[in-house]
Amino acid sequence: MGDVAGTTLDDYMDRYARRVMGMTASEIRALFAVANRPEVVSLAGGMPYVAALPLDTVGAMIGKLIAQQGETALQYGIGQGMVELREQICELMADVGIDGSVGASPDDVVVTIGGQQALDLVARLFLDPGDVVLAEGPTYVGALGVFQAAQARVVHVQMDEDGLIPEALAAAILAQRAQGNRIKFLYTIPTYQNPAGVTLSESRREEVLQICEREGLLVIEDDPYGRLGFDGEAPRPLRARRRDGVFYLSTFSKTFAPGLRVGWILAPHAVRDKLVMTTEANILCPSNLAQSVITTYLSTQPWREQLKIYQQIYGERRDAMLSALSDLMPSGTQWTRPNGGLFVWATLPDDLDSKAMVPRAIAARVAYVPGTGFYADGTGQKHMRLNFSYPDPERIREGIRRLAGVIEQETAT
Ligand code: PMP
Repeated sequence: MGDVAGTTLDDYMDRYARRVMGMTASEIRALFAVANRPEVVSLAGGMPYVAALPLDTVGAMIGKLIAQQGETALQYGIGQGMVELREQICELMADVGIDGSVGASPDDVVVTIGGQQALDLVARLFLDPGDVVLAEGPTYVGALGVFQAAQARVVHVQMDEDGLIPEALAAAILAQRAQGNRIKFLYTIPTYQNPAGVTLSESRREEVLQICEREGLLVIEDDPYGRLGFDGEAPRPLRARRRDGVFYLSTFSKTFAPGLRVGWILAPHAVRDKLVMTTEANILCPSNLAQSVITTYLSTQPWREQLKIYQQIYGERRDAMLSALSDLMPSGTQWTRPNGGLFVWATLPDDLDSKAMVPRAIAARVAYVPGTGFYADGTGQKHMRLNFSYPDPERIREGIRRLAGVIEQETAT
């Protein structure tokens, strides 16, 4: 029968746990089925361009790894993750200022199954039903899914081209507290945000941290994209500025390969044990094989050069998208100009509804994600997320041409 718990009656309806009733299907997942048809130009996904990896070399590396370290790589590991990888993760974080001077240590790193499990761990550790999470509006759809599964309420805080607006954050905290709501943390993606493509400015970083400190809010800093800048260095992460109160989450999905499903969380020392117990109850331990592949990749391959290749490809594709948008979009359409990451966030003219427009766009053989997927309350109709990391520049231009045609038709009717 129905495939979405809580929306269609199925035979198991009266058996589900209460939290299942709040689950809704991700708009992105539903879109993928059609978006993946070859005739459709998909600007909908968020996939890294892994074809840019030297696949033969990676294959040979993995073969050698199994031959030399197979007994460890194919065995169970420890819940917190391999020591060698946690040390390498600390070296990576030190590159962006998260080092011993702000208390970063391999002991406080927990390896996770991608950044997604890091989010899930944070939710399991801190969220009770009814708790409020503050998050950028719009925010990462996968984080919404995790917070909603924990039966928390996500309250969005407005952004502009410099990221989260500190005054809006302070006002949201006041408003929630005035209603008697308990705010557990601020969830933020400060750098090359998904889906908005904007970056929290240097000066606002300090302001946001001060507000959270003053108000006693934890900060969950999600940073999958910080190393994917095209126009120079990103501002230092929030965690590089504070020792306490900030959890730092990141992943190898965008710097290497998402298929390995390896991410991490750097937690304040005091909660490290609870985090490890939570992950052990959840998954026993992350994959030793996947972790070994990452440690070997980091220690034997020119990964910094590979990262430059990703940056260059995505930078070219970002440029292709921005010039197609300015050449082809009808007037009144607006969009962000990201300095990194994978996404442009566009705003439609004349209060058009991007969700209602999806079937027409698919008929015109172009796919995007409507803005509604990125707001807990389903608003965001006039926005859409456009991905530029996966399609090549020609496909991007063709996709924008088709999309512009659809928007023009909508405004004409
Ligand atoms: N956080 C954000 C902001 C993301 O965009 C993503 C992936 N799209 C993730 C976390 C999860 O990434 P992964 O589980 O692949 O590491």
